[in-house]
Parts: sequence; structure tokens; C-alpha cells
Amino acid sequence: MSDYVIAPPAIPAIPVAGGGLFPVRRIFCIGRNYPEHAREMGHDPEREPPFFFSKPADAVVTGGAEMPYPPATADLHHEIELVVAIGREGAAISVVDALDHVWGYAAGIDMTRRDIQAIAKKQARPWDMAKAFDHSAPIGDIVPAAQIGHPASGMIALAVNGKGRQLGDLADKVWPVPEAIAYLSTLVTLMPGDLIFSGTPAGVSAVERGDLLEGVIAGVGTVTTRIV
Ligand code: MN
Repeated sequence: MSDYVIAPPAIPAIPVAGGGLFPVRRIFCIGRNYPEHAREMGHDPEREPPFFFSKPADAVVTGGAEMPYPPATADLHHEIELVVAIGREGAAISVVDALDHVWGYAAGIDMTRRDIQAIAKKQARPWDMAKAFDHSAPIGDIVPAAQIGHPASGMIALAVNGKGRQLGDLADKVWPVPEAIAYLSTLVTLMPGDLIFSGTPAGVSAVERGDLLEGVIAGVGTVTTRIV
């Protein structure tokens, strides 16, 4: 018998390509990490320090499952991103050691209630309700870095109903993965199970119920979900 006064929540987990499950502890996301996306959002992509926001671990949508259209928005956007899965604890990690903390990678979509975000920005309020809502993190299977290495370049793209919307190259990131890990680990101790959504290339746009979202990252894999 446990002492929990209610049933403890299940641990969210993501299938690993080839078998097994990766348990999710926390989800961190980097904002404006591709210059063309920063510009399309009305910002100058100067190399200012990276900034982070987060989503709850149970926001993941796995295995190609459908994503319910969320409440309180009329402007739901997709952001295809390379997701880094942390396998080893670390604080104040150096750039040269950073990739030793990576267990694997996946393709993920940082779903965003853009209208709520616009209001939050205007009023200098937190982004949580724009970014951290239920089912806001569709993600494909995780592939071990032991198999694919550490992708620093290659195509990252997303199509809606078969029509290309986002296209970029992993090499375009303002803050490459090692530097992002190093910087984030000066703010929090990174732990096994943490995910880092590493930013999105240009081409974000609104989706509707019924739309099929298909993301692909060369050398990593795919992420697919239908909005229902
Ligand atoms: Mn994003």
C-alpha cells in the first residue's frame, strides 16, 4: 500500500525505434533558434542568449496518434523541431561534453496557440497557456544516438495534407545542440528523461481539424499526427 491519497499519475513515455520506451521527465523548448523563423515572427535574429520555455511531460502525443484541436484558440500553429532526449544528469555542462548527455533524438512538433501567445507577448505575460496545453507535443519515435550519431545538419521539414509548409536545415540553428545543452544546464540540472525541443525553421502556419501533419528530419525520422 502506498501513502498516495490519489492514484499517482502515469509516467509519460515515448516509443524507441527498435523497441523499449523512453520515460519523459520534463520538456524544455528553445525559442527563435532559426534566423528565418525569428524574422517571420518579427524579430532580429541577432545572436542573443537563447531563451527557454517548457511543456508538461504528459503533453506528448506518441505513435502517430491523433491530436485533439485544443480549446481557447482560433490560430493553432505547427512548429517542426529536432528533439534531444537527455540520458545523463548534468549541471554546468561544457559544450565539448554536451553530446555525452544525449541518449537519442526524435522529430517533434511544438504546437502553439499563436493567438494566445500574441496576447501574452503584448502584455508581457508568460507563454504557458500558448505553449504548454494538453496534447501540445506530438513526437515521433526516439532513435538512439548510439545508432545515428548526432545530426548537426540535414533537412527538417513539415507538410500539411501533403503540401510543404516548413523547410530548413538543422545547420541553420543559431544555437547548435551542444551549445543549447550547455546553456540550459547553467539554468537547471538536466536529468535523464528530459527532452529539449531545439527550435523551428520558417514556415509556421495555422492548421484546422482534419489536417494531417507530417514532419521529417533527415537521419532522425518522422512525426505524424492528424488534428481532430
Ligand atoms: Mn518552438
